[in-house]
Amino acid sequence: MLEIRGLKANIEGKNILKGVDLILNKGEVHAIMGPNGTGKSTLAKVICGDPNYEVLDGNVFLEEGKKRKDILELDPDVRAKNGIFMGFQYPVELPGITNEVFLHAAFNEICEYQGVDGLDSFDFRKHLEKKMVELNIPNDFMERCVNVGFSGGEKKKNEILQMAVLNPKVIFLDEMDSGLDVDSLRSMGTSVDRLRTKENVIVLITHYKRLLDYVEPDFVHIFYDGRIVKSGGISLVDEIESHGYDNLVKVK
Ligand code: ADP
Ligand code: MG
Repeated sequence: MLEIRGLKANIEGKNILKGVDLILNKGEVHAIMGPNGTGKSTLAKVICGDPNYEVLDGNVFLEEGKKRKDILELDPDVRAKNGIFMGFQYPVELPGITNEVFLHAAFNEICEYQGVDGLDSFDFRKHLEKKMVELNIPNDFMERCVNVGFSGGEKKKNEILQMAVLNPKVIFLDEMDSGLDVDSLRSMGTSVDRLRTKENVIVLITHYKRLLDYVEPDFVHIFYDGRIVKSGGISLVDEIESHGYDNLVKVK
């Protein structure tokens, strides 16, 4: 569904992504692990179209049926309307805009772009309430302004709510597990696992195996110095936990 080829990108003149290759197929879950500061968040942000990054080389092809487009040419909102979603490591706060208003606007924009009817306020509220019940999210999330005054864990939960409501196809979740207590982690993990379908692909950027106990990935990739240096199955996680990245990367 998404093919990342030779992706190179800079921020403030500093080369961060040094040729990332990754193929994401429908129905798969991928985990990206790696030391701090190696470019994992950068990869997700470049794919979503964060304008602070300069793409130097490479392609990111999105395939839909027989159609194939390079999303690097699209504005961030158009990428989102094409089903690219990012759960942020540090979600932003939007004072003055309630979750319900925000999600309704986003939902209807996506519908319009995809040529299907949106939902009126009444039906959207039903859709939102259903998702909130499924994800065990307190009712007051609806009227609260997006992430304003939310705890770290609540912000992460809110990212998952956005994902559930907007039903994207290519999902990057950047350190969704950081800062969560064990119960929140279990709830987050089971929610994400419930949202995996045959029609979407989920990329989990994470440091720990804990999240992967709830959402078992089909592929695990080690990200190091701006590229993927090793890929494997779930057993790679145990290798990382027992040997550390440095040893694994040396073997390469
Ligand atoms: P990771 O998610 O793997 O921890 P990041 O993608 O966040 O790593 O960061 C990769 C590198 O890019 C780091 O060395 C970081 O300091 C650098 N970086 C990120 N944002 C900026 C910025 N705005 N200006 C300069 N350097 C940045
Ligand atoms: Mg990061």
